[in-house]
Amino acid sequence: MGTWLATVRFPDGTRKYARYSTVVECMYDRLYSTACHYGDMLPDGQQCYRSAVTGEPDPQWPEAKRAPIDQLVPVEIGEEANNCTWHALYCPQRAMVLGPMSCDHMDELQYRYELVRGDDGVRHLCDFVISDAREDRRPNAACGRRVPGQLLPFHRIEPYLGMELDTLPEDLPPMDLYAEWDRDDLCRECLASQLPQ
Ligand SMILES: [Zn+2]
Repeated sequence: MGTWLATVRFPDGTRKYARYSTVVECMYDRLYSTACHYGDMLPDGQQCYRSAVTGEPDPQWPEAKRAPIDQLVPVEIGEEANNCTWHALYCPQRAMVLGPMSCDHMDELQYRYELVRGDDGVRHLCDFVISDAREDRRPNAACGRRVPGQLLPFHRIEPYLGMELDTLPEDLPPMDLYAEWDRDDLCRECLASQLPQ
């Protein structure tokens, strides 16, 4: 009952399918080549009342070494439970999506990090520090580099129980940085550091 279809779209037009769970609000990592869509007929003649993966899962190699960063493949994933779409990275060596596995990654990244544009124009993720955001005290970026530079609009305050909502600074929309994987002004190491090694 809590399982819905997720569709993984590759840059070459290939589609793969996976299960999406509303219990854990994320996609499972097994990919399938086929799915039965709402209204289609299953091989046994039953109608599909909810889209679902069909057949056997594709082979995967979870123990394989992760492909080098520049060989990771950006994919777009859509799930039918909440009709949310996000971008993620696929590892061709493992034949698996490394992540993110749900739309929630946008909140998670924006609650945790600042986005900083370094002097070379490249944007990096730096841990948000509440008490002291001075540039010289800023933590290293997620890729390990020191990034003095300009804070960009990105970080959002995580709502908590009892928070006075009218004291919030103007909130920013969710931002899907993985959608910008192919841009040369975004640090790929910072994004890849958020995924399983
Ligand atoms: Zn970086």
